[in-house]
Amino acid sequence: MAYDRNNVFARILRGEIPCQKVYEDEHVLAFTDIRPQAPIHVLVIPKGEYVSFDDFAAKASPAEQTAFLKAVGKVARDLGVAETGYRLLANHGADANQEVPHFHIHVFGGRRLGRMLPRE
Ligand code: AMP
Repeated sequence: MAYDRNNVFARILRGEIPCQKVYEDEHVLAFTDIRPQAPIHVLVIPKGEYVSFDDFAAKASPAEQTAFLKAVGKVARDLGVAETGYRLLANHGADANQEVPHFHIHVFGGRRLGRMLPRE
């Protein structure tokens, strides 16, 4: 799947749409989800053009991948949920209902999060 430069996260990265920034470095931006599903619900995204986790895992440089992983850990620690617990989620593709075609990890926390997936 080709990267769509008009997706909402690309527009946030270009500053065309505002976001509630939580963290930023050379490779990574983190901001609050606009429809939070937990008291803490932050999205961590790479600045590079990667459609999904699969694309990022296959094509991002080691420097980008390392920076991303470290940023996710730092964001969770800085938000105070490393002690109490948190959940990471990355949706890839149709079966996972990925809505925004720019790789992102959801960080959920601040309450008991229940089961990993609802029972079918
Ligand atoms: P996903 O289904 O994993 O692609 O999740 C996309 C997430 O992006 C959803 O949780 C949305 O609420 C969130 N989202 C969409 N637009 C924005 C925005 N402008 N700012 C912050 N979060 C957004």
